[in-house]
Amino acid sequence: MNQSHRINHRNDELIIALAKGRILKDTLPLFAKIGIKPLENLTISRKLMIETTNPQVKFLIVRATDAPTYVQYGAADLGVSGKDTLIEHGYTGIFEMLDLHIAKCKLMTAVLNEMDSLPDKRLTVATKYVTSARSYFADKGIHADIIKLYGSMELAPLVGLSDCIVDLVDTGNTLKANGLKPLDVVLEISTRLIANRVSLKTKSMMIKSLLADLEKVVAIQP
Ligand code: AMP
Repeated sequence: MNQSHRINHRNDELIIALAKGRILKDTLPLFAKIGIKPLENLTISRKLMIETTNPQVKFLIVRATDAPTYVQYGAADLGVSGKDTLIEHGYTGIFEMLDLHIAKCKLMTAVLNEMDSLPDKRLTVATKYVTSARSYFADKGIHADIIKLYGSMELAPLVGLSDCIVDLVDTGNTLKANGLKPLDVVLEISTRLIANRVSLKTKSMMIKSLLADLEKVVAIQP
């Protein structure tokens, strides 16, 4: 990597890892309200390390599942990540600071339309959310064999790979379009602000100040 592209970790600078996609769309307006706006147009820019209107703050634009990893290893001091992703990551080296109440959705079980409930047998469950699914079925005393998939879980029941899926549901349109229906809520999901445990000590003043600003904005959100 070209030296000029590398982050020099400075003690007077905050690096914030933002999850791309649906979460980013809701995150940017929150930071804008506290005076931190990207200096690049993120819809057209291909840059992944972005300066902001606050010279002390830089954004890293990362894949949603990678945000906790950047924070865990201190490549970012703070991060913005969905609760679903955080549970799967396991919270190693990470402290959850604040519920941002954005990108809300539900982690749910879903089955083929013609089924009214989960079949009364040892289940096969296809999901990307292995940890959440495992603990949900264990709590219910249901035997479940979990099959890890990385995308398009809706396909699994259609082709007989699994009896049900555990997936994020917002409007329910994706399930419907694939002949599935939601059954039970596994977890209510929203986006969280996370911090690296070491940065919390070494950059405590800057983090406290940013946290206080975000708390005010989150409290008055519709
Ligand atoms: P929907 O069709 O509106 O129910 O959206 C479901 C699809 O969008 C699923 O494939 C989910 O993985 C994804 N999705 C919904 N809400 C979120 C969210 N808050 N964060 C990330 N992905 C989401």
